Amino acid sequence: LRRAHCPPDSEALGRATWTFLHTTAAYYPERPSPTQRAHMLQLLHALPTLYPCGHCADDLGERIRSHPPEVGSRAALGAWLCATHNEVNALLGKPTFDCARVDERWKDGPKDGSCD
Ligand code: FAD
Repeated sequence: LRRAHCPPDSEALGRATWTFLHTTAAYYPERPSPTQRAHMLQLLHALPTLYPCGHCADDLGERIRSHPPEVGSRAALGAWLCATHNEVNALLGKPTFDCARVDERWKDGPKDGSCD
Protein backbone atom coordinates (compact mmCIF):
# COMPACT_ATOMS: atom_id res chain seq x y z
CA LEU A 1 0.00 0.00 0.00
CA ARG A 2 1.42 3.38 -1.01
CA ARG A 3 1.62 5.93 1.77
CA ALA A 4 0.00 9.36 1.57
CA HIS A 5 3.37 11.14 1.56
CA CYS A 6 4.70 9.22 -1.46
CA PRO A 7 4.78 10.92 -4.88
CA PRO A 8 1.72 9.95 -6.93
CA ASP A 9 1.95 7.05 -9.35
CA SER A 10 -0.01 7.26 -12.61
CA GLU A 11 -3.14 5.83 -10.95
CA ALA A 12 -3.19 8.36 -8.10
CA LEU A 13 -2.35 11.16 -10.53
CA GLY A 14 -5.18 10.01 -12.81
CA ARG A 15 -7.73 9.96 -9.97
CA ALA A 16 -6.68 13.42 -8.81
CA THR A 17 -6.75 14.80 -12.35
CA TRP A 18 -10.17 13.35 -13.17
CA THR A 19 -11.43 14.77 -9.85
CA PHE A 20 -10.16 18.21 -10.81
CA LEU A 21 -11.46 18.05 -14.39
CA HIS A 22 -14.94 16.66 -13.61
CA THR A 23 -15.41 19.02 -10.65
CA THR A 24 -14.30 22.01 -12.72
CA ALA A 25 -16.68 20.94 -15.51
CA ALA A 26 -19.54 20.53 -12.99
CA TYR A 27 -19.14 24.18 -11.94
CA TYR A 28 -18.43 25.54 -15.45
CA PRO A 29 -21.04 28.17 -16.41
CA GLU A 30 -24.18 27.24 -18.33
CA ARG A 31 -23.34 30.19 -20.55
CA PRO A 32 -19.57 30.68 -20.47
CA SER A 33 -18.10 33.94 -21.65
CA PRO A 34 -15.72 33.89 -24.64
CA THR A 35 -12.83 34.24 -22.16
CA GLN A 36 -14.04 31.30 -20.06
CA ARG A 37 -14.41 29.16 -23.20
CA ALA A 38 -10.92 30.11 -24.35
CA HIS A 39 -9.41 29.31 -20.95
CA MET A 40 -11.13 25.93 -20.77
CA LEU A 41 -9.86 25.09 -24.26
CA GLN A 42 -6.35 26.15 -23.24
CA LEU A 43 -6.53 24.02 -20.08
CA LEU A 44 -7.60 20.91 -22.01
CA HIS A 45 -5.22 21.46 -24.92
CA ALA A 46 -2.32 21.95 -22.49
CA LEU A 47 -2.72 18.47 -20.98
CA PRO A 48 -1.26 16.49 -23.92
CA THR A 49 1.96 18.51 -23.71
CA LEU A 50 2.23 18.85 -19.92
CA TYR A 51 0.54 15.87 -18.26
CA PRO A 52 3.33 13.92 -16.54
CA CYS A 53 2.34 10.44 -17.73
CA GLY A 54 3.77 10.28 -21.22
CA HIS A 55 1.63 7.58 -22.80
CA CYS A 56 -1.54 8.98 -21.13
CA ALA A 57 -0.71 12.42 -22.56
CA ASP A 58 -0.10 11.03 -26.06
CA ASP A 59 -3.34 9.07 -25.90
CA LEU A 60 -5.30 12.12 -24.75
CA GLY A 61 -3.78 14.20 -27.56
CA GLU A 62 -5.10 11.74 -30.12
CA ARG A 63 -8.54 11.70 -28.48
CA ILE A 64 -8.69 15.51 -28.49
CA ARG A 65 -7.73 15.54 -32.18
CA SER A 66 -10.48 13.09 -33.15
CA HIS A 67 -13.11 14.52 -30.73
CA PRO A 68 -12.31 18.17 -29.95
CA PRO A 69 -13.43 19.47 -26.54
CA GLU A 70 -16.92 20.98 -26.41
CA VAL A 71 -16.80 24.07 -24.24
CA GLY A 72 -20.00 25.87 -25.30
CA SER A 73 -21.92 25.08 -22.09
CA ARG A 74 -21.68 23.24 -18.77
CA ALA A 75 -23.80 20.38 -20.17
CA ALA A 76 -21.72 20.07 -23.34
CA LEU A 77 -18.41 20.10 -21.46
CA GLY A 78 -19.63 17.59 -18.88
CA ALA A 79 -20.84 15.23 -21.60
CA TRP A 80 -17.60 15.53 -23.58
CA LEU A 81 -15.47 14.90 -20.50
CA CYS A 82 -17.59 11.93 -19.40
CA ALA A 83 -17.36 10.39 -22.88
CA THR A 84 -13.60 10.98 -23.00
CA HIS A 85 -13.11 9.44 -19.56
CA ASN A 86 -15.25 6.48 -20.66
CA GLU A 87 -12.97 5.97 -23.67
CA VAL A 88 -10.00 5.77 -21.29
CA ASN A 89 -12.02 3.43 -19.04
CA ALA A 90 -12.64 1.14 -22.02
CA LEU A 91 -8.95 1.18 -22.95
CA LEU A 92 -8.07 0.13 -19.39
CA GLY A 93 -10.85 -2.47 -19.08
CA LYS A 94 -12.70 -0.37 -16.46
CA PRO A 95 -16.53 -0.20 -16.40
CA THR A 96 -18.40 2.47 -18.36
CA PHE A 97 -19.67 5.28 -16.13
CA ASP A 98 -23.34 6.35 -16.59
CA CYS A 99 -23.02 9.96 -17.76
CA ALA A 100 -26.51 10.76 -16.40
CA ARG A 101 -24.90 10.47 -12.94
CA VAL A 102 -22.13 13.03 -13.44
CA ASP A 103 -23.83 15.76 -11.35
CA GLU A 104 -24.62 13.33 -8.56
CA ARG A 105 -21.02 12.09 -8.51
CA TRP A 106 -19.21 15.42 -8.85
CA LYS A 107 -21.53 18.17 -7.62
CA ASP A 108 -24.75 17.28 -5.81
CA GLY A 109 -23.97 13.99 -4.05
CA PRO A 110 -26.48 11.15 -3.68
CA LYS A 111 -30.11 11.96 -2.82
CA ASP A 112 -29.87 10.01 0.45
CA GLY A 113 -27.60 12.75 1.82
CA SER A 114 -24.83 10.29 2.66
CA CYS A 115 -22.18 12.76 1.45
CA ASP A 116 -23.63 15.81 3.26
P1 FAD B 1 -10.59 6.84 -12.34
O1 FAD B 1 -10.69 6.40 -13.77
O2 FAD B 1 -9.41 7.68 -11.94
O3 FAD B 1 -11.94 7.62 -12.00
C1 FAD B 1 -12.13 8.28 -10.74
C2 FAD B 1 -13.62 8.28 -10.43
O4 FAD B 1 -14.29 8.99 -11.47
C3 FAD B 1 -14.28 6.91 -10.45
O5 FAD B 1 -14.16 6.27 -9.21
C4 FAD B 1 -15.72 7.22 -10.80
O6 FAD B 1 -16.47 7.56 -9.63
C5 FAD B 1 -15.60 8.46 -11.66
N1 FAD B 1 -15.73 8.20 -13.08
C6 FAD B 1 -15.31 7.12 -13.78
N2 FAD B 1 -15.58 7.26 -15.09
C7 FAD B 1 -16.20 8.45 -15.22
C8 FAD B 1 -16.73 9.15 -16.33
N3 FAD B 1 -16.70 8.64 -17.58
N4 FAD B 1 -17.30 10.36 -16.11
C9 FAD B 1 -17.36 10.89 -14.86
N5 FAD B 1 -16.87 10.28 -13.77
C10 FAD B 1 -16.29 9.06 -13.95
N6 FAD B 1 -4.00 5.41 -17.23
C11 FAD B 1 -3.40 4.49 -18.04
O7 FAD B 1 -2.98 3.45 -17.55
N7 FAD B 1 -3.28 4.71 -19.39
C12 FAD B 1 -3.73 5.86 -19.99
O8 FAD B 1 -3.60 6.05 -21.21
C13 FAD B 1 -4.35 6.85 -19.15
N8 FAD B 1 -4.77 8.02 -19.67
C14 FAD B 1 -5.27 8.96 -18.84
C15 FAD B 1 -5.64 10.21 -19.38
C16 FAD B 1 -6.09 11.22 -18.56
C17 FAD B 1 -6.46 12.56 -19.15
C18 FAD B 1 -6.21 11.00 -17.17
C19 FAD B 1 -6.69 12.11 -16.27
C20 FAD B 1 -5.86 9.77 -16.62
C21 FAD B 1 -5.39 8.75 -17.44
N9 FAD B 1 -5.03 7.51 -16.91
C22 FAD B 1 -4.46 6.57 -17.75
C23 FAD B 1 -5.33 7.16 -15.50
C24 FAD B 1 -6.66 6.38 -15.42
O9 FAD B 1 -7.68 6.99 -16.22
C25 FAD B 1 -7.22 6.30 -13.98
O10 FAD B 1 -7.29 7.59 -13.42
C26 FAD B 1 -6.41 5.41 -13.02
O11 FAD B 1 -6.24 4.13 -13.61
C27 FAD B 1 -7.15 5.25 -11.67
O12 FAD B 1 -8.42 4.64 -11.96
P2 FAD B 1 -9.60 4.52 -10.92
O13 FAD B 1 -10.21 3.17 -11.17
O14 FAD B 1 -9.19 4.88 -9.55
O15 FAD B 1 -10.72 5.60 -11.40
